[in-house]
Amino acid sequence: MEKQEKLNALKKELETANLPLKKTANLVFGEGNINCAVMFIGEAPGFNEDMQKRPFVGRAGKVLDEMIAAIGWKRSDVYITNIVKRRPPDNRDPLPEEIEAYKPYLAKQIEIINPKIIATLGRFSMNYFLPFAKISNDHGKIFQAEERIIFPLYHPAAALRATAVMEELRRDFRKLPAVAAGKPLTPQTPPSTTVKKPEKPAQATLFT
Ligand code: URA
Repeated sequence: MEKQEKLNALKKELETANLPLKKTANLVFGEGNINCAVMFIGEAPGFNEDMQKRPFVGRAGKVLDEMIAAIGWKRSDVYITNIVKRRPPDNRDPLPEEIEAYKPYLAKQIEIINPKIIATLGRFSMNYFLPFAKISNDHGKIFQAEERIIFPLYHPAAALRATAVMEELRRDFRKLPAVAAGKPLTPQTPPSTTVKKPEKPAQATLFT
């Protein structure tokens, strides 16, 4: 099966599976270039995303779009999705059991798309890959998780709440072209240790 067919099948599976939030919200599967080098992963859709069934189309999405444009990329160059694929009521944080329920679908989506780099947006998606990482300490650093680079970023909604976070997010984004070009790919610790023994995330050398 081609990538697109596999993604269509996964979407169908998600539509019909008995998952949390199914009764109250629309499915927001994800969108973008399925042959991307960089996949952005947020936490869960909000009001606008639920309405449009598209990820990051509200205020946080505008920030993401601006940041992507500022480094000379287009939104259509990358793939954008969330861990939890339906909006939690009142925009509350996703619950651990919601994250658990949607995790296997995200794992499958990543496997199909197979991006070289995963840029996580916010702590929920960062902690999916790097359970012991701290966003305030580890944003903008690169981590090797098996065959992929994980690049944690602040969530654009957090950037909207604090100018200092917006600046950090902007700064981190500027590193992305170099990360995508494969420049800082010399991890200090063997790749598998980051994910399997995540107490002390292995960080690659370039951008400390
Ligand atoms: N916040 C997220 O984490 N994801 C979206 O799609 C929108 C806002």
